[in-house]
Amino acid sequence: MSDNFVRLIPKKVGVMFPDLLESLIENYLDSIEYKYETIRIVTFEDITFIDCGENLDSIRCNVCGANLDGWWQERMSESYNSGFVDRTIKTPCCSSVTELENLKYNFNCGFSKCEIEIFNPLRKIEISDIIKIEKIINCQLMQIIARY
Ligand SMILES: [Zn+2]
Repeated sequence: MSDNFVRLIPKKVGVMFPDLLESLIENYLDSIEYKYETIRIVTFEDITFIDCGENLDSIRCNVCGANLDGWWQERMSESYNSGFVDRTIKTPCCSSVTELENLKYNFNCGFSKCEIEIFNPLRKIEISDIIKIEKIINCQLMQIIARY
């Protein structure tokens, strides 16, 4: 059986979560009877690509929709060498200048220095609950559904 994760990261790349976050989130998830195996807050030294595992199967241009899978791999390697600090790209399809996080991933993926990692949840978190969590921790969030 595969492992499933709900990964919550700040919408804005590089933003860090406030302290004492874990108990606030746990309390809220308890209150809505959200079930999972474990939850942990992970912080990274550098900006890290927060992927959706097997759920990822296409990356498209956010302007014209062209498929960029192979090209994206190369840009990711280059950006990785900068610790994902430089994520600016110029797309080969329509010469749009954008950043790696703006491309259209078929499942949400993001870049972050921290994440809330929920292991084997029974379901994803509803948008209305994400909005409440955002208010509790004063940080806008992106939900990434990952399977490995
Ligand atoms: Zn394009």
